[in-house]
Amino acid sequence: MIDTIRIAIQKSGRLSEDSLKLIKECGIRFDNGGGKLKTAATNFPAEILFLRDDDIPGYVEDGVAHLGIVGQNVSEETNKNVNTVHKLGFSKCRLSIGILREQNYEGVQDLDGKSIATTYPRLLGEYLKAHQVQANIHEISGSVEIAPSIGLADAVCDIVSSGSTLLSNGLKEVETIFRSEAVMIANKNLPAPQQALLDQLLFRIQSVQEAKN
Ligand code: ATP
Ligand code: ZN
Repeated sequence: MIDTIRIAIQKSGRLSEDSLKLIKECGIRFDNGGGKLKTAATNFPAEILFLRDDDIPGYVEDGVAHLGIVGQNVSEETNKNVNTVHKLGFSKCRLSIGILREQNYEGVQDLDGKSIATTYPRLLGEYLKAHQVQANIHEISGSVEIAPSIGLADAVCDIVSSGSTLLSNGLKEVETIFRSEAVMIANKNLPAPQQALLDQLLFRIQSVQEAKN
């Protein structure tokens, strides 16, 4: 059997379209019809796995996938032992703290003693620690922005791009704690054939990116 490289991308979400586009721009052809979870490329020894983005770093660490495309936010939050091999320049966003619009805010110390709802407890925890703020991290799995208006928490820490979601929930952005874009991550112990395929891919990605500049 020919050695193939397995690349994990988000099945459906904000990373999906640009991830597929990047792979196609690298000249890799595959059939992704029918909502399949796995597809083989027709002109390159690669398989594409379609997964939830949060699961991708773990699969890359385990070697189930050799490569993955995820947001740096997810890669850092999950804290898996993987290599970040390339920044991809899409899905740019930031992780920010927001509070109710009518609340006074002078600086990060104002968060002392407050509760902050987030799906990013690790990144938030590191930020608070670095700024010597004692706040209560309230980990929830979604719909974070609604937490202050229903009295679940004093503040939120969530992904922002334009800020319109914060605004429409009566919140204002007071701190940016992390800036993110999509990255390619790789398993730390790639076998030689997959390392060679990764090098070919990175060469193609660089050519695609240079052509755009
Ligand atoms: P999944 O069901 O796969 O877990 P999800 O709901 O966690 O999906 P998405 O909302 O599709 O994830 O976001 C995927 C990634 O896209 C985020 O982790 C982040 O890196 C980036 N992202 C999130 N929101 C935006 C945005 N508004 N603009 C640009 N990029 C974003
Ligand atoms: Zn997710």
